[in-house]
Amino acid sequence: MSITYNKIHVHVRLGAIRANYRLLSSKSGGEIIPVVKADAYGHGMAPVAQALHDEGARTFAAGTIEESCELAEVLPDARIVSLLGPVDGVDADLLAKNGVVPFVGSAEQMDLAAEAAGRRTAPLDVCLKFDTGMSRLGFTLDDVPALLDRLKQTPKLRPVMASSHLACADEPEHFEHVRKQGARFQAILDALRRAGLNIQGCLANSAGLLAHGALHHEAQRPGIALYGVNPFHKTPMEDMGRELTPAMDVFAPVVQVRDLPKGRTISYGASYTADRDMRVAVAAAGYADGYSRGLSNKGQALVAGKRANILGRVCMQLCILDVTEISGVRPGVQAALLGGEGPQAIRPEELAGWWGTIPYEVFCLLGLNRKTHGN
Ligand SMILES: *Cc1c(COP(=O)(O)O)cnc(C)c1O
Repeated sequence: MSITYNKIHVHVRLGAIRANYRLLSSKSGGEIIPVVKADAYGHGMAPVAQALHDEGARTFAAGTIEESCELAEVLPDARIVSLLGPVDGVDADLLAKNGVVPFVGSAEQMDLAAEAAGRRTAPLDVCLKFDTGMSRLGFTLDDVPALLDRLKQTPKLRPVMASSHLACADEPEHFEHVRKQGARFQAILDALRRAGLNIQGCLANSAGLLAHGALHHEAQRPGIALYGVNPFHKTPMEDMGRELTPAMDVFAPVVQVRDLPKGRTISYGASYTADRDMRVAVAAAGYADGYSRGLSNKGQALVAGKRANILGRVCMQLCILDVTEISGVRPGVQAALLGGEGPQAIRPEELAGWWGTIPYEVFCLLGLNRKTHGN
């Protein structure tokens, strides 16, 4: 995919993602299954997975069946699980041909997986997905007897993993909810194993891996921590993720620099008035590039290593930065919207705060732009 309508450039430092993986490995003990869904949270699935494969990762979690099959082509000797699992006949066709491991969390998904398995010579490995307190996808503990019956009737489906997802592992005030989910998951694993299933248990996300050692089971599925975000940012447990390093830098060029006399207003809606004689830089980034209009009069960018406030409304493809105190800014200078060099680099948690969202969304939206990868 190549974007031709803008000048935004995302640069991903794979070395940072590798270092985050090693840090998480040192806390794990079991198998780490890097979550690379949604194009590796916008970081570029193939290069990220390749780098983590070099670090020793052997199982990866992608999103859709289609995305999982794409990754299987890049890493033919890795095991790829699909977190979404099959949702239609197209997915069943792909499963019949490819060796990816789908999450299966409903009777409908079981039908699709069984249909695909029936068309294969080898059995189809599946991951059973359970709801333990997220109330989103998955079977419940009550479904286990019927599920076991169904599996007995469908020998071509081979369960290799059981999984559930934690809703509040990064929120210390909700750790009682985490504990309850952990207990429900354990009850489910016990029931499956009593019935003779030989499965890996996989519950923990990034926050679970970092802070809930009792819930590690055989495998963990970290996503956001691999991309350098501290799940415990601004909580009493902040120290747990302090060593993680962000990997994404996002740049947009300054296209014009102008003087703005005191009293002049800026951008649509005249929502900002210069309170003194100012100098502003217009940068080629706006909401069409995933740079949210919610940053109007709130966000900052990094220009020549210094912070510049966004003045007025963010437009479709442009925004305006206050560079009054920053010398030497000329058209062609790259403004960092995320990351950048030096001690003032913009952290994803910080950008998400101005934006009124979480770093996950910041990465996914900015990550839709054109990307390069380096160490
Ligand atoms: C996205 C996702 C993860 C990773 O969660 P993080 O909070 O990014 O570590 C793990 N499991 C499932 C099912 C997911 O959808």
